Amino acid sequence: MNSDSTKIPQATAKRLPLYYRFIQNLHSSGKQRVSSAELSEAVKVDSATIRRDFSYFGALGKKGYGYNVSYLLSFFRKTLDQDEVTNVALIGVGNLGTAFLNYNFLKNNNTKIQLAFDIEESKVGTKIGEVPIHHMDELEDTLARLDVPVAILTIPQSAAQTITDRLVQSNIKGILNFTPARLNVPPEIRVHHIDLAIELQSLVYFLKNYPDESVEK
Ligand code: ATP
Repeated sequence: MNSDSTKIPQATAKRLPLYYRFIQNLHSSGKQRVSSAELSEAVKVDSATIRRDFSYFGALGKKGYGYNVSYLLSFFRKTLDQDEVTNVALIGVGNLGTAFLNYNFLKNNNTKIQLAFDIEESKVGTKIGEVPIHHMDELEDTLARLDVPVAILTIPQSAAQTITDRLVQSNIKGILNFTPARLNVPPEIRVHHIDLAIELQSLVYFLKNYPDESVEK
């Protein structure tokens, strides 16, 4: 995100891509305005939160009118830097990594996995979903030549910290960590952690223990 969005709280910032996707759909269907109630129903965030979120970026809805879709769209584009494609590197072309290489992230946002790395000789030099797979030995040299600010980690947990240290040295700014490892990074590097096993376990726990309560989505 660009620097003039720094005053937006992080919890709000995390919801922006969700809003953005929905607003894009509304815009392409020709809709010119949207109420916070409609938005709330579509993105499953309560309307008070939506109104508060939107107030941070100056989109003040009018009673009985709602929000102007074109204004929201241009705001989100600018704030999320969606005019430019962000290049991503994927490390570890196993089952999960392969699925990501086959998935077209460009469909929903402007990020593209440009290249992947693995240590497995049989994978190096091949392509999956048009993404070339390089050897880990080439990591530093290859990243030095390209503008790749983000890396996805789909390697075994045991390799995660060592590879993270190498990525930090290679000027990576953000890491999407799918390994169970908790990573140590300098404060200027951002790590988002998605542990699928824990998410699944937590979902099952909530189903069992809070079956009738409405939940935060
Ligand atoms: P997944 O966990 O995605 O289901 P998997 O079970 O197929 O994958 P893992 O052992 O988790 O395999 O390894 C994921 C991928 O990471 C494999 O392709 C493996 O070759 C690769 N890998 C393992 N160690 C390293 C490393 N140090 N650097 C880069 N890649 C590695």
